[in-house]
Amino acid sequence: MSEIVKADGIAQPILTVSALKKTYKDGTVALRGVDFTVKAGEIVGIIGSSGAGKSTLMRCINRLIEPSDGYVYFDGIDVTKSNKHQLRYVRRQMGMIFQSFNLIARSTVLGNVLNGRLGYMDSVRGALGIFSKQDIEDAMSILERVGLVNQAHKRADELSGGQQQRVGIARALAQKPKLILADEPIASLDPVTSENIMDYIYRICKEDGITCLINLHQVEFAKRYADRIIGIRAGRRVFEGRAQDLAQDVVQEIYA
Ligand code: ADP
Repeated sequence: MSEIVKADGIAQPILTVSALKKTYKDGTVALRGVDFTVKAGEIVGIIGSSGAGKSTLMRCINRLIEPSDGYVYFDGIDVTKSNKHQLRYVRRQMGMIFQSFNLIARSTVLGNVLNGRLGYMDSVRGALGIFSKQDIEDAMSILERVGLVNQAHKRADELSGGQQQRVGIARALAQKPKLILADEPIASLDPVTSENIMDYIYRICKEDGITCLINLHQVEFAKRYADRIIGIRAGRRVFEGRAQDLAQDVVQEIYA
Protein backbone atom coordinates (compact mmCIF):
# COMPACT_ATOMS: atom_id res chain seq x y z
CA MET A 1 0.00 0.00 0.00
CA SER A 2 1.21 3.52 -0.78
CA GLU A 3 2.15 5.85 2.02
CA ILE A 4 -0.69 8.39 1.82
CA VAL A 5 0.41 11.99 2.29
CA LYS A 6 -2.42 14.51 2.25
CA ALA A 7 -1.86 17.72 0.31
CA ASP A 8 -3.05 20.79 2.15
CA GLY A 9 -2.42 24.28 0.76
CA ILE A 10 -1.18 23.42 -2.70
CA ALA A 11 -1.21 25.22 -6.01
CA GLN A 12 -3.64 27.12 -8.20
CA PRO A 13 -7.18 26.08 -9.09
CA ILE A 14 -7.19 24.01 -12.28
CA LEU A 15 -10.91 23.21 -12.28
CA THR A 16 -13.84 25.37 -11.29
CA VAL A 17 -17.40 24.08 -11.38
CA SER A 18 -20.04 26.71 -10.84
CA ALA A 19 -23.84 26.50 -10.47
CA LEU A 20 -23.75 23.36 -12.60
CA LYS A 21 -27.19 21.96 -13.40
CA LYS A 22 -28.39 19.03 -15.41
CA THR A 23 -31.95 18.06 -16.20
CA TYR A 24 -32.28 15.02 -18.46
CA LYS A 25 -34.75 14.95 -21.36
CA ASP A 26 -37.20 12.85 -19.34
CA GLY A 27 -37.32 15.60 -16.67
CA THR A 28 -35.00 13.92 -14.14
CA VAL A 29 -33.08 16.63 -12.30
CA ALA A 30 -29.62 15.14 -11.70
CA LEU A 31 -27.66 18.28 -10.72
CA ARG A 32 -29.26 21.23 -8.96
CA GLY A 33 -26.45 23.80 -8.97
CA VAL A 34 -23.12 22.32 -7.90
CA ASP A 35 -20.10 24.51 -7.09
CA PHE A 36 -16.53 23.58 -6.22
CA THR A 37 -12.92 24.25 -7.10
CA VAL A 38 -10.05 21.78 -7.47
CA LYS A 39 -6.41 22.79 -7.15
CA ALA A 40 -3.71 21.46 -9.45
CA GLY A 41 -2.31 18.20 -8.11
CA GLU A 42 -5.18 17.59 -5.72
CA ILE A 43 -7.02 14.27 -5.39
CA VAL A 44 -10.68 14.98 -4.68
CA GLY A 45 -13.04 12.17 -3.78
CA ILE A 46 -16.71 12.60 -4.64
CA ILE A 47 -18.99 10.51 -2.49
CA GLY A 48 -22.72 9.98 -2.43
CA SER A 49 -25.28 7.25 -2.77
CA SER A 50 -26.31 5.69 -6.05
CA GLY A 51 -28.32 8.19 -8.10
CA ALA A 52 -26.92 11.23 -6.24
CA GLY A 53 -25.53 12.69 -9.48
CA LYS A 54 -21.81 11.82 -9.22
CA SER A 55 -21.51 10.28 -12.66
CA THR A 56 -23.56 13.05 -14.29
CA LEU A 57 -21.29 15.61 -12.64
CA MET A 58 -18.15 13.93 -13.95
CA ARG A 59 -19.55 13.64 -17.47
CA CYS A 60 -20.65 17.28 -17.49
CA ILE A 61 -17.05 18.27 -16.73
CA ASN A 62 -15.76 16.76 -20.00
CA ARG A 63 -19.12 17.29 -21.72
CA LEU A 64 -19.82 13.67 -22.47
CA ILE A 65 -23.13 14.97 -21.10
CA GLU A 66 -24.23 18.51 -21.96
CA PRO A 67 -24.91 20.53 -18.79
CA SER A 68 -28.24 22.38 -18.73
CA ASP A 69 -26.79 25.43 -16.97
CA GLY A 70 -23.75 26.70 -15.08
CA TYR A 71 -20.14 26.51 -16.15
CA VAL A 72 -16.97 24.47 -15.96
CA TYR A 73 -13.60 26.21 -16.19
CA PHE A 74 -10.61 23.97 -16.80
CA ASP A 75 -7.07 25.27 -17.06
CA GLY A 76 -8.27 28.70 -18.14
CA ILE A 77 -10.82 27.43 -20.68
CA ASP A 78 -14.59 27.76 -20.38
CA VAL A 79 -15.45 24.14 -21.20
CA THR A 80 -19.19 24.78 -21.30
CA LYS A 81 -18.72 27.32 -24.11
CA SER A 82 -15.99 25.42 -25.97
CA ASN A 83 -16.52 24.73 -29.64
CA LYS A 84 -15.73 21.34 -31.19
CA HIS A 85 -12.07 22.21 -31.75
CA GLN A 86 -11.54 23.52 -28.20
CA LEU A 87 -13.41 20.56 -26.76
CA ARG A 88 -11.07 18.15 -28.50
CA TYR A 89 -8.14 19.98 -26.87
CA VAL A 90 -9.86 19.95 -23.45
CA ARG A 91 -10.79 16.28 -23.65
CA ARG A 92 -7.30 15.10 -24.33
CA GLN A 93 -6.18 16.84 -21.13
CA MET A 94 -8.84 14.87 -19.23
CA GLY A 95 -8.22 11.14 -18.98
CA MET A 96 -11.20 9.08 -17.91
CA ILE A 97 -11.29 5.83 -15.96
CA PHE A 98 -14.56 3.90 -15.92
CA GLN A 99 -16.23 1.45 -13.55
CA SER A 100 -16.63 -1.14 -16.30
CA PHE A 101 -13.15 -0.42 -17.73
CA ASN A 102 -14.55 0.31 -21.25
CA LEU A 103 -11.75 -1.55 -23.02
CA ILE A 104 -11.96 -2.91 -26.53
CA ALA A 105 -12.23 -6.55 -25.54
CA ARG A 106 -10.75 -8.09 -28.67
CA SER A 107 -7.93 -5.60 -28.98
CA THR A 108 -4.60 -6.13 -27.25
CA VAL A 109 -3.58 -4.47 -24.02
CA LEU A 110 -1.11 -2.31 -25.97
CA GLY A 111 -3.80 -1.45 -28.55
CA ASN A 112 -6.10 -0.28 -25.78
CA VAL A 113 -3.41 1.90 -24.25
CA LEU A 114 -2.58 3.40 -27.65
CA ASN A 115 -6.22 4.40 -27.98
CA GLY A 116 -5.38 7.04 -25.40
CA ARG A 117 -3.34 8.75 -28.14
CA LEU A 118 -6.25 9.10 -30.60
CA GLY A 119 -7.08 12.64 -29.46
CA TYR A 120 -3.63 13.72 -30.67
CA MET A 121 -3.87 12.13 -34.12
CA ASP A 122 -5.57 13.07 -37.35
CA SER A 123 -8.66 11.02 -38.10
CA VAL A 124 -7.11 8.97 -40.94
CA ARG A 125 -4.10 7.79 -38.93
CA GLY A 126 -6.41 7.22 -35.96
CA ALA A 127 -8.85 5.12 -37.98
CA LEU A 128 -6.04 3.06 -39.47
CA GLY A 129 -4.33 2.69 -36.09
CA ILE A 130 -1.03 4.09 -37.35
CA PHE A 131 0.82 5.02 -34.18
CA SER A 132 4.27 6.57 -34.02
CA LYS A 133 7.28 4.70 -32.65
CA GLN A 134 7.32 7.25 -29.82
CA ASP A 135 3.66 6.53 -28.98
CA ILE A 136 4.40 2.80 -28.82
CA GLU A 137 7.50 3.32 -26.67
CA ASP A 138 5.55 5.61 -24.33
CA ALA A 139 2.68 3.11 -24.11
CA MET A 140 5.12 0.33 -23.20
CA SER A 141 6.72 2.41 -20.48
CA ILE A 142 3.28 3.23 -19.07
CA LEU A 143 2.46 -0.50 -19.09
CA GLU A 144 5.70 -1.03 -17.17
CA ARG A 145 4.46 1.44 -14.52
CA VAL A 146 1.20 -0.44 -14.06
CA GLY A 147 2.96 -3.81 -14.00
CA LEU A 148 1.52 -5.06 -17.29
CA VAL A 149 4.41 -4.89 -19.71
CA ASN A 150 4.47 -8.69 -19.99
CA GLN A 151 0.78 -8.71 -20.94
CA ALA A 152 1.09 -6.06 -23.68
CA HIS A 153 0.22 -8.41 -26.54
CA LYS A 154 -2.56 -10.31 -24.79
CA ARG A 155 -6.19 -9.66 -25.63
CA ALA A 156 -7.74 -7.29 -23.10
CA ASP A 157 -10.59 -9.70 -22.31
CA GLU A 158 -8.10 -12.37 -21.21
CA LEU A 159 -7.10 -10.26 -18.21
CA SER A 160 -8.57 -10.21 -14.70
CA GLY A 161 -10.77 -7.29 -13.63
CA GLY A 162 -7.95 -5.63 -11.71
CA GLN A 163 -5.57 -6.01 -14.65
CA GLN A 164 -8.21 -4.58 -17.00
CA GLN A 165 -8.59 -1.58 -14.77
CA ARG A 166 -4.81 -1.12 -14.83
CA VAL A 167 -5.11 -1.03 -18.64
CA GLY A 168 -7.83 1.61 -18.13
CA ILE A 169 -5.41 3.64 -16.02
CA ALA A 170 -2.65 3.18 -18.61
CA ARG A 171 -4.97 4.33 -21.43
CA ALA A 172 -5.83 7.48 -19.45
CA LEU A 173 -2.11 8.13 -18.84
CA ALA A 174 -1.30 7.71 -22.54
CA GLN A 175 -3.30 10.91 -23.08
CA LYS A 176 -0.73 12.73 -20.90
CA PRO A 177 -3.66 14.26 -19.01
CA LYS A 178 -3.63 17.15 -16.57
CA LEU A 179 -6.81 15.82 -14.97
CA ILE A 180 -8.04 12.28 -14.42
CA LEU A 181 -11.79 11.74 -14.03
CA ALA A 182 -12.28 8.34 -12.40
CA ASP A 183 -15.93 7.28 -12.27
CA GLU A 184 -16.36 4.55 -9.63
CA PRO A 185 -13.09 2.87 -10.71
CA ILE A 186 -13.26 0.18 -8.03
CA ALA A 187 -16.99 -0.52 -7.90
CA SER A 188 -16.63 -3.76 -9.92
CA LEU A 189 -13.63 -5.06 -7.97
CA ASP A 190 -13.08 -7.07 -4.78
CA PRO A 191 -11.68 -5.24 -1.72
CA VAL A 192 -8.04 -6.34 -2.15
CA THR A 193 -7.98 -5.47 -5.86
CA SER A 194 -9.75 -2.19 -5.07
CA GLU A 195 -6.95 -1.22 -2.72
CA ASN A 196 -4.38 -2.15 -5.34
CA ILE A 197 -6.11 -0.01 -8.00
CA MET A 198 -6.48 2.94 -5.61
CA ASP A 199 -2.77 2.62 -4.81
CA TYR A 200 -1.89 2.85 -8.50
CA ILE A 201 -4.17 5.85 -9.10
CA TYR A 202 -2.89 7.61 -5.99
CA ARG A 203 0.80 6.95 -6.65
CA ILE A 204 0.72 7.86 -10.34
CA CYS A 205 -1.25 11.07 -9.79
CA LYS A 206 1.11 12.18 -7.02
CA GLU A 207 4.27 11.23 -8.94
CA ASP A 208 3.14 13.00 -12.12
CA GLY A 209 1.30 15.91 -10.47
CA ILE A 210 -1.96 14.90 -12.16
CA THR A 211 -5.13 16.33 -10.63
CA CYS A 212 -7.73 13.65 -9.95
CA LEU A 213 -11.45 13.70 -9.39
CA ILE A 214 -12.65 10.32 -8.27
CA ASN A 215 -16.21 9.13 -7.73
CA LEU A 216 -16.33 6.62 -4.94
CA HIS A 217 -19.23 4.87 -3.37
CA GLN A 218 -17.05 3.67 -0.49
CA VAL A 219 -16.46 6.37 2.11
CA GLU A 220 -13.47 4.57 3.64
CA PHE A 221 -11.51 4.63 0.38
CA ALA A 222 -12.29 8.33 -0.09
CA LYS A 223 -11.13 9.09 3.44
CA ARG A 224 -7.92 7.18 2.97
CA TYR A 225 -6.81 8.40 -0.45
CA ALA A 226 -8.42 11.77 -1.15
CA ASP A 227 -6.88 15.11 -0.16
CA ARG A 228 -10.39 16.50 -0.01
CA ILE A 229 -13.89 15.06 -0.14
CA ILE A 230 -17.05 16.42 -1.72
CA GLY A 231 -20.36 14.89 -0.69
CA ILE A 232 -23.25 14.95 -3.17
CA ARG A 233 -26.85 14.24 -2.28
CA ALA A 234 -29.77 14.51 -4.70
CA GLY A 235 -27.79 16.70 -7.11
CA ARG A 236 -26.49 19.10 -4.46
CA ARG A 237 -23.12 19.48 -2.78
CA VAL A 238 -23.82 18.86 0.90
CA PHE A 239 -20.24 18.52 2.16
CA GLU A 240 -16.79 19.74 1.24
CA GLY A 241 -13.76 19.24 3.44
CA ARG A 242 -10.89 17.05 4.54
CA ALA A 243 -11.30 13.43 5.48
CA GLN A 244 -10.88 14.19 9.18
CA ASP A 245 -13.80 16.65 9.01
CA LEU A 246 -16.12 14.00 7.64
CA ALA A 247 -17.87 13.04 10.87
CA GLN A 248 -20.24 10.10 11.06
CA ASP A 249 -23.34 12.32 11.22
CA VAL A 250 -22.19 14.10 8.04
CA VAL A 251 -21.76 10.74 6.31
CA GLN A 252 -25.29 9.84 7.39
CA GLU A 253 -26.58 13.10 5.98
CA ILE A 254 -24.83 12.50 2.64
CA TYR A 255 -26.25 8.98 2.40
CA ALA A 256 -29.66 9.81 3.88
P1 ADP B 1 -24.60 8.45 -9.45
O1 ADP B 1 -23.42 8.48 -10.35
O2 ADP B 1 -24.37 9.23 -8.18
O3 ADP B 1 -25.11 7.08 -9.18
P2 ADP B 1 -26.07 9.50 -11.74
O4 ADP B 1 -25.38 10.75 -12.13
O5 ADP B 1 -25.79 8.27 -12.51
O6 ADP B 1 -25.79 9.24 -10.17
O7 ADP B 1 -27.63 9.74 -11.77
C1 ADP B 1 -28.25 10.91 -11.20
C2 ADP B 1 -29.72 10.86 -11.54
O8 ADP B 1 -29.89 11.03 -12.94
C3 ADP B 1 -30.41 9.54 -11.19
O9 ADP B 1 -31.73 9.82 -10.78
C4 ADP B 1 -30.40 8.81 -12.50
O10 ADP B 1 -31.47 7.88 -12.57
C5 ADP B 1 -30.60 9.95 -13.48
N1 ADP B 1 -30.06 9.68 -14.82
C6 ADP B 1 -28.80 9.33 -15.15
N2 ADP B 1 -28.65 9.23 -16.48
C7 ADP B 1 -29.87 9.53 -17.01
C8 ADP B 1 -30.37 9.62 -18.35
N3 ADP B 1 -29.60 9.38 -19.41
N4 ADP B 1 -31.66 9.96 -18.51
C9 ADP B 1 -32.47 10.22 -17.46
N5 ADP B 1 -32.05 10.17 -16.18
C10 ADP B 1 -30.77 9.83 -15.95
